[in-house]
Amino acid sequence: MKVGVLALQGDVRLHTDVLNSLGIKPTNVTIGAQIDELSHLIIPGGESTTISKLLSSGHIFDKLQQRLEDRSISIFGTCAGLILLAKEVLDGRDDQKSFGVLDVSVRRNAFGRQIESDLKEVVLNSINVIEPAFIRAPRIERVGKDVETIGRLKESDEPVLVRQGKILAATFHPELCVSQDCNIVHKIFLEIAEES
Ligand code: GLN
Repeated sequence: MKVGVLALQGDVRLHTDVLNSLGIKPTNVTIGAQIDELSHLIIPGGESTTISKLLSSGHIFDKLQQRLEDRSISIFGTCAGLILLAKEVLDGRDDQKSFGVLDVSVRRNAFGRQIESDLKEVVLNSINVIEPAFIRAPRIERVGKDVETIGRLKESDEPVLVRQGKILAATFHPELCVSQDCNIVHKIFLEIAEES
């Protein structure tokens, strides 16, 4: 297992800390050549328009697109990372690119502005409850038929953590979380990768 964290912009360090706590030493991915070696990649939250630009200039976009289409890499997109994986991005910028491999429609900034960011309770697999941060979070407005909902917002039951094959995606920041079992979402990612 070789895990990377896309380290172009956004919350890279805290993902690294969670992975370290699970005994994994991830690679910080900044150039396309590093993509070849990976079995797993996390795209952190940040700003999807900025990450989209940096992906193209670092020659990562095409390499990663190919591996996603071959289904040869497991990927976990969080917040901006989810937006970058989605098939349909609503309220996106015209020049923002997406890999388009996760069959969901996602609306950017649907929970309001930065100041309205908050901790919210998420129910995982109808059992565990965690309380991660939602920061200018997107909202999943449509879930495709091959997409499984793993986590729902407790207050509204809407999907906030979804899976399609080797793709896991969250509208929230699992690495910024106050409850006890916060690393459970990273564990789910690492387990899915082994199964599929
Ligand atoms: N609203 C941001 C975007 O569109 C995502 C915010 C986040 O990743 N915390 O990219």
